[in-house]
Amino acid sequence: MERTLVIVKPDGFARGLTGEVLRRIEAKGYTLDTLQIMTADRDRLAQHYAEHEGKPFYQPLVDFMASGPATFAIVSGHRVIEGFRAIAGATDPTAAAPGSIRGDLGRDWGLAVQQNIVHGSDSPESAEREIGIWFAQR
Ligand code: GDP
Ligand code: MG
Repeated sequence: MERTLVIVKPDGFARGLTGEVLRRIEAKGYTLDTLQIMTADRDRLAQHYAEHEGKPFYQPLVDFMASGPATFAIVSGHRVIEGFRAIAGATDPTAAAPGSIRGDLGRDWGLAVQQNIVHGSDSPESAEREIGIWFAQR
């Protein structure tokens, strides 16, 4: 069974959308394996977002992700990596399709970083790497 790391980012947490995101994951038939609410530290965010270092939105992204509590979830299911990213929708909340989390709920504030409610791993390698950053021995 495949697994992925989902994060309900600080904007989603602050707006009270954690339950709505988890509801959509469960309604799709995926399994919530582990849930943890925490404010992310910058060291682990730097590891998590290493691929984006040097991009214009990198520092705003780390600042945003460290700005308040978020919910970290290990989610499992058949093809869950691709499936959750389909549920999440496109990165840009304005372009994300209606029906997706970002399309239905994401607000485009014109900020330096897109505050788009959720993170989902983009490959099996990313998922295992990211789960290793945020969870010990899972
Ligand atoms: P994701 O896999 O869909 O989350 O997108 P990426 O891995 O490419 O980017 C990580 C996060 O950085 C996104 O979820 C956004 O919060 C932010 N981000 C990515 N690309 C851009 C961009 O072009 N502009 C802005 N402002 N933020 C971005
Ligand atoms: Mg990504």
